[in-house]
Amino acid sequence: MDLFEYQARDMFEKHGVPVLAGEVITDPADAAEVAERVGADSGGVVVVKAQVKTGGRGKAGGVKLAKSAQEAQQHADDILGMDIKGHTVGTVMIAQGAQIEEEYYFSLLLDRTNRALLAMCSKEGGVEIETLAVERPEALAKVAVDPLVGIDEAKAAEIVEQAGFTSDQQAIAETLQTLWTVYHEEDATLVEVNPLVKTQDGRIIALDGKVTLDENADFRHDDRAGLVDSGAADPLEAKAKEKGLNYVKLDGNVGIIGNGAGLVMSTLDVVAYSGQELGEQDGVLATPANFLDIGGGASAQVMADGLEVILGDEQVRSVFVNVFGGITACDAVATGIVQALELLGDKENKPLVVRLDGNNVDEGRRILADAAHPMVTLADTMDGGARKAAELALDPTS
Ligand code: GDP
Ligand code: MN
Repeated sequence: MDLFEYQARDMFEKHGVPVLAGEVITDPADAAEVAERVGADSGGVVVVKAQVKTGGRGKAGGVKLAKSAQEAQQHADDILGMDIKGHTVGTVMIAQGAQIEEEYYFSLLLDRTNRALLAMCSKEGGVEIETLAVERPEALAKVAVDPLVGIDEAKAAEIVEQAGFTSDQQAIAETLQTLWTVYHEEDATLVEVNPLVKTQDGRIIALDGKVTLDENADFRHDDRAGLVDSGAADPLEAKAKEKGLNYVKLDGNVGIIGNGAGLVMSTLDVVAYSGQELGEQDGVLATPANFLDIGGGASAQVMADGLEVILGDEQVRSVFVNVFGGITACDAVATGIVQALELLGDKENKPLVVRLDGNNVDEGRRILADAAHPMVTLADTMDGGARKAAELALDPTS
């Protein structure tokens, strides 16, 4: 999960990384009042910054210096609602203005290939780091960091030295250590500060922050719900997440439910394959609409939740339920499907192909056959089921 700059700022502050005052607003009418307060210690100078999860906001006109509350007001008017690389600005941060003497770069990220962390640091920050890395790679220090040790005093000194700092080494090294604390304690996979600045009065300050958190560690952090950007997520994915489902929305028209990630992935493949074989009909090609793994249980509630999410996808024209009964036997799964259809009632309005195999398959198929739901077709094999679901997506009467 990527954080907004203001969330990264707050996180930095919590761990003792030096930052400047900043408050967010969504209504431009609040800008002047906030600017008065935030700019009180910087001679009224504030910076109005678009809060969007993309880089290069400065270049795009999303970061503007204001010398008065009135000017901050105007900038907030301009920036709120602006489009930056496809992101509409709904929030701006009004931050205390800094008098910048120098701009540096620092990042710490997960380096999977080397099973380590990688710290990158440069005296030439503020610019786009990708450009610097290509044009002047010697100006960007890259230092491997042992994840079990982190950035301790010695490692911080090494990074500072390699980046070629000839002054303020101590203050910069201390800041890198606090940034390590953020990375480690917050279970981040990326912490980037661009620019890390030296102000005219000699302070080292993180002026812009980018943080990516490892969602696999969410269980260790009770305070993360507030960080989730519900506006950005796909509404179906958000609903699935709420229900604890492992769902990824795709662009096709055949909804897919299976148990076990491997089975679901191969189901996507066979549906796509059938779609290709059938070819386009009236400009429509049958392709998978989603990934949905309901896991081992496949209870009626989970099945109903899964079907509800999939049927809520307007692009979906048919659904393929592909379950292999293992620990949960097919009869239990079939009962789950029948009960789910009862729970859904009229909401179940698209043709459903069900293929069951594995433990207790005969009993499972009998339960579904007895229920004789008008929307349900039983399939004997995975390929046959995929084919049928693809056909139904092209022609619901097939
Ligand atoms: P980005 O373009 O999305 O990376 O946004 P940044 O927050 O990094 O801001 C871009 C640039 O604006 C920085 O590199 C600075 O040069 C400038 N800037 C940001 N905040 C201040 C500030 O408080 N004072 C001054 N003078 N410049 C700032
Ligand atoms: Mn930046």
